[in-house]
Amino acid sequence: MSQGQTSTDVILIGAGIMSATLGTLLKELAPDWNIKVFEKLASAGEESSNEWNNAGTGHSALCELNYTVERPDKSVDISKAIKVNEQFQISRQFWSYLVNSNLIRNPRDFIMPLPHLSYVHGENNVQFLKRRFDALSNHPLFEGMEFSDNKETLAEWIPLMMKNRTSNDPIAATKIDSGTDVNFGALTRMLIDHLKNQNVDIRYQHSVKNMKRTSNGAWEVTVKNVRSGATERHTAKFVFIGAGGGSLHLLQKTGIPEGKHIGGFPVSGLFMVCKNPEIVNQHHAKVYGKASVGAPPMSVPHLDTRYIDNEKSLLFGPFAGFSPKFLKTGSNADLITSVKTHNLLTMLAAGVKEISLTKYLIQQLMLSKEQRMEELRDFVPGAKSEDWDMVWAGQRVQVIKDTVQGGKGTLQFGTEVVTAADGSIAALLGASPGASTAVHVMLEILAKCFPQHITDWEPKIKEMIPSYGVSLVENIDLLQEIHSATSKALGLSDEKLALLV
Ligand SMILES: Cc1cc2nc3c(=O)[nH]c(=O)nc-3n(C[C@H](O)[C@H](O)[C@H](O)COP(=O)(O)OP(=O)(O)OC[C@H]3O[C@@H](n4cnc5c(N)ncnc54)[C@H](O)[C@@H]3O)c2cc1C
Repeated sequence: MSQGQTSTDVILIGAGIMSATLGTLLKELAPDWNIKVFEKLASAGEESSNEWNNAGTGHSALCELNYTVERPDKSVDISKAIKVNEQFQISRQFWSYLVNSNLIRNPRDFIMPLPHLSYVHGENNVQFLKRRFDALSNHPLFEGMEFSDNKETLAEWIPLMMKNRTSNDPIAATKIDSGTDVNFGALTRMLIDHLKNQNVDIRYQHSVKNMKRTSNGAWEVTVKNVRSGATERHTAKFVFIGAGGGSLHLLQKTGIPEGKHIGGFPVSGLFMVCKNPEIVNQHHAKVYGKASVGAPPMSVPHLDTRYIDNEKSLLFGPFAGFSPKFLKTGSNADLITSVKTHNLLTMLAAGVKEISLTKYLIQQLMLSKEQRMEELRDFVPGAKSEDWDMVWAGQRVQVIKDTVQGGKGTLQFGTEVVTAADGSIAALLGASPGASTAVHVMLEILAKCFPQHITDWEPKIKEMIPSYGVSLVENIDLLQEIHSATSKALGLSDEKLALLV
């Protein structure tokens, strides 16, 4: 049965943080445009954006060691850390705008200040951390970072991690207090609620099945109403594929040349969670360690304080694993059905290159709870099995593509935006740094897909994101001004915090 045929300005596929962010930006920039959202699940933010499916780190490279690479001469390259941090400043500005305009009532509902620490042990790692600290701490974006290899200081910073620690291995950490814990699930729901109030048509349990171009250059989207089984057809001048792990299959349905020769490699994740207040209250930080040899960058172990549903808990992980599904609620056929004639060679090349990664992921998947507890005890030496439960996190689909540097079938760990040459459709693939940089990535999509409007929109974009188009690194005064204004608006500075409690 086919019913319902509507025409609209914009269709957003998926109700995760990416579509929610793009929809909110568009509603501010073009309030009269009609927007429709199709989400296959029964509510918003249920896949990767859900608070239990990701780690909630406001990624700004304050503690994640994978953003600072050691060069062969042992100096530390901080360029990626600067880039990630600058992108997070853009999110902070947009979220502050939403708070200041009362589109979000209370920032505490989605963002909390939380110290970010990097932690290492072993002489070589301690030396590396010190060099990393020296390279970062003089930079204005990382102001306030401290280093210590003194066990008493560390016991003050990370008491739970230092308790019962008997090893004499050298140990060190850096700490910076301007980190955050972000509840991306709550933020997604708030933004989607706001869109609903702005007359955006949000259709849950509507799964997008196909897409084709119409004769006038728009897109016809075929949608299945999951509850009734009915098929609907909707056309739009612009479509955003923000379907998370589901984006690759949908991109392939569009047939656009930009979507060819791209594959996806799913990596599953698992966290250990502790809700015992006696333990939880001994830790107040996000502490990122170093990935073990052979581990992909997204499985860097970390021990985090989380604020979810007004409850404080501890989260450790993620343990990577292998599942052929592209979404947590996806199908075991996802990987195989993503292989097409145009990406077959790319996928085969990646298969050969990434045998050791696949082996590593399968090994990780086979770990028993007790073996995972052993990894946790590297962070919390006295951790007891009965205090920790295992929860499945979201699926990440890492992009595989042919690159000049890496050659055929190279696994990418970042976020990839694919747009049609005429800007009528855009898809977001990949997962890292992920939700933290949603605003930056969506601004990139606006610039690529709406070049005819961007000049008119610029004043409004600058109102929302004062640093738009300006490098904060090159404008330290502006950086300081923005950092202090966003800290206040988001309740991350002491004075505002006191008011919000
Ligand atoms: C283990 C893990 C830890 C992470 N940690 C962090 C972190 O600490 N900080 C951070 O910033 N990022 C983190 N991320 C990344 C972050 O979660 C993602 O980048 C982000 O949530 C992606 O948002 P999205 O809107 O693209 O996708 P999603 O949130 O997955 O939303 C996509 C939506 O599309 C829907 N959908 C799919 N197919 C269809 C279809 N055919 N029709 C209709 N709807 C469809 C899905 O049901 C879903 O609701 C982490 C991810 C994982 C998996």
